[in-house]
Amino acid sequence: MTQLELARKGTISEEMKSVAAEEGVAPELVRQGLAEGTIVVPANVNHRLGRYCGIGKGLRVKVNANIGTSSDFSDVETELEKLRAAIEHKADTVMDLSTGGDITAIRCAILEASSIPLGTVPIYQAGIEAIEREGAIVKMTADKLFAVIEQQAREGVDFMTLHCGVTQSAIERLRRQGRLTNVVSRGGAFLLGWVLHNEQENPLYEEYDRLLEIAREFDVTLSLGDGLRPGSLADATDRAQVEELLTLGELVQRAWDAGVQVMVEGPGHVPLDQIEANVQLEKRLCKGAPFYVLGPLVTDVAAGYDHIAGAIGGAIAAVAGADFLCYVTPTEHLGLPDPDDVREGVIASRIAAHAADIVKGVKGAWDWDRQMSLARENLDWEGQVRLCLDPAKARKLHSIHATSGDACSMCGDYCALKLVASFLGAKEGKP
Ligand code: SF4
Repeated sequence: MTQLELARKGTISEEMKSVAAEEGVAPELVRQGLAEGTIVVPANVNHRLGRYCGIGKGLRVKVNANIGTSSDFSDVETELEKLRAAIEHKADTVMDLSTGGDITAIRCAILEASSIPLGTVPIYQAGIEAIEREGAIVKMTADKLFAVIEQQAREGVDFMTLHCGVTQSAIERLRRQGRLTNVVSRGGAFLLGWVLHNEQENPLYEEYDRLLEIAREFDVTLSLGDGLRPGSLADATDRAQVEELLTLGELVQRAWDAGVQVMVEGPGHVPLDQIEANVQLEKRLCKGAPFYVLGPLVTDVAAGYDHIAGAIGGAIAAVAGADFLCYVTPTEHLGLPDPDDVREGVIASRIAAHAADIVKGVKGAWDWDRQMSLARENLDWEGQVRLCLDPAKARKLHSIHATSGDACSMCGDYCALKLVASFLGAKEGKP
């Protein structure tokens, strides 16, 4: 039985208890959210996880880190290093987006090493195998695509991005829309090409029940992909994007009816003033299914700093109700990230997620900041390092310019906190 089916039966599973303990909430809250579809717990029956992750209403906002090879760089050791960087900096999940080298071997190595849930985009492997075998993605058969999905599910992949909403009708709407940047999703592009060339409906939509059967057997959480997400501010919230979301809303209902856990992916590039509307639209059309946003990036011109553009968008989206943030790294739009980029991306998204948790009243979020402020007031440097999101970086920056006193080198002898403490006395307590 899937976690959704167990929850509906009134059972509180070990996975639900573990999520509840991690979040500091009642197990019943997790069970109820699962039963209603507002929470997912990606946990393939074939993947032994060290840490279960609940995503959705009433829980801490979660962060995903994308890793994976490309056709230019396909070293498995580097990917494992990225995985370690993501876990060390407390990403909640990782996605293996490998498109280069031995994709199956790389995924299996990552799965084996990952203590946190792993996601994939199976169309990458299916499309690339079609190129290797038949010379073109458009030669991929529906059977081969579903065989790859089943293979990955059997191996233990916990959640999968599946672009079921790239339908003939949505593609026609995209054509009539006349976008600035047509399609920026790799999976969306693969499927669009396949649908147009073969003049057939998207198999992930046409044979959705087949997908649901596989997902149910292994308790794979579906992450309904936004293959037509905007790739520029100019295309945000347009008719093609919204049509795809309408379809995804219907598919959410069908997943629930089949006992399958499901969440929905969202944009992309979105101006600040449209982010809240995008979240509300998803929540309404998809009946509260968890929303997994890719950024969103609030400007198109931040290349080199897109992790910051993504964190700004992520914070606003999360405050508005988005549940899960896909990180963006400094190399977005420019190249494949390395382990340092992974660290920067995870931390940027965790800042966004935590900033939202504070104002959403997530348990412990406010107190964390209080503890940090107390450590600052007391010039407790060990406490400050321990409490910050990236302790190693904080320690390094603090020690670069040493001072003789107990302040930092920013103001040295004229440390405001120290001066005022000499008049008003130090604050009680240690963080
Ligand atoms: S020296 Fe300045 S920056 Fe450093 S702790 Fe004191 S007040 Fe803060």
